[in-house]
Amino acid sequence: MPTIVMKFGGTSVADLQRIENAADKVIREIVRGNRCVVVVSAMSGVTNQLVSWVNSLTPDYDAREYDAVVATGEQVTAGLMAIALQKHGIKARSWQGWQAGVISTTAHGRARIQDIEAERLERALAKGEVPVIAGFQGVTAAGRITTLGRGGSDTSAVAFAAALNADRCDIYTDVDGVYTTDPRICKDARKISRISFEEMLEMASVGAKVLQIRSVELAMKRGIKLQVLSSLEDKIGSDLPGTLLVKEEDVLESHLISGVSCSKDEAKITLVGVRDMPGFAASMVKPLADAGINIDMIVQNVTADGNATDMTFTLSSADLHKAVKALEGVADKVMTDDKVAKVSVIGIGMKAHPEVALTAFKAMADANINIMAISTSEIKISMLVSETKADDAVRALHSAFELDKVEKTPQILKVKHKEGR
Ligand code: ASP
Ligand code: MG
Repeated sequence: MPTIVMKFGGTSVADLQRIENAADKVIREIVRGNRCVVVVSAMSGVTNQLVSWVNSLTPDYDAREYDAVVATGEQVTAGLMAIALQKHGIKARSWQGWQAGVISTTAHGRARIQDIEAERLERALAKGEVPVIAGFQGVTAAGRITTLGRGGSDTSAVAFAAALNADRCDIYTDVDGVYTTDPRICKDARKISRISFEEMLEMASVGAKVLQIRSVELAMKRGIKLQVLSSLEDKIGSDLPGTLLVKEEDVLESHLISGVSCSKDEAKITLVGVRDMPGFAASMVKPLADAGINIDMIVQNVTADGNATDMTFTLSSADLHKAVKALEGVADKVMTDDKVAKVSVIGIGMKAHPEVALTAFKAMADANINIMAISTSEIKISMLVSETKADDAVRALHSAFELDKVEKTPQILKVKHKEGR
């Protein structure tokens, strides 16, 4: 019997009616002969509320207690969903992260799953129960509750799919898939039917917030078939109505660009007049790394006078305050700007097409948008622009690469689904 992990995000369980709709989808999958494992988020808005309560008491909170508070959102939904299923005669049972054997690191607030001890869950499944698991939660070896970082229930779902050897992991959310860009910014955005894990990772890392990035990394590593689809539409996952994440080689006709993404939660820091000498980059990055801060685009100017140079890098604006503190003493002058955005074009097709950069830069020039920094990878070109220009930049790039016009859905080879076997 095929096993499907069905994950419902916050908007998909936002109220009792939506919880009942989600339960209905689970029942329809069961009727089709699938074994279902349900993973739920907190009802929408709940986690934000819990986080803000903690922050209102003190920004210097004990992260263990932050986790004790914010993990409760998922507990409520798991119980409600189990009841909604039981109403229809389904043998459902709620599971907290610790009950479901989600062993995590001790990095409270951003813990990582180390292992899932799935024996108890497997026994429940064997008895015909439908587990309804609180996503986002783990437990340390010492028995403290942890949470997996915002959006972490996606990662919970993929981790359970891996641990239980599931045939597919369906992530139900409030959009019907991954789009060529944010439809709120560009009305011509189109749904992508198939995207490679690699492209999706780039989309996620630069701000397409459909899936937590770690969930995509894990799915890629473990070969989990992952689908993003809408819970607000009538279709169920087995009809494959959403966006399927597949291996790169499963995309037959490679296309130049898959999408344009935009991250506005960006800030930039410039260290002015730093010594141009061996070891400086390391001395700058070390305190940031020690503080757990990721930095991204790093630009070092060529020294004009042979002594001093400027170093600019970007980071999440949420980390700006912490970063400035960590950098105390590293440079005489630190300039910050959190009114910046990172706009990126992403596509596996660009590997073989150097003209992509030209098209991108020309689109920005034609739209009269200044590029402050550029970074590239094999399948991505990112540009840092003023936040006020970010939406224009997205629209300019989307149309320059004709993402609105081209039927960009590539044909797919070898996407086998084991359902119905
Ligand atoms: N409820 C958590 C959050 O809002 C986890 C999740 O929904 O994935 O971040
Ligand atoms: Mg989410």
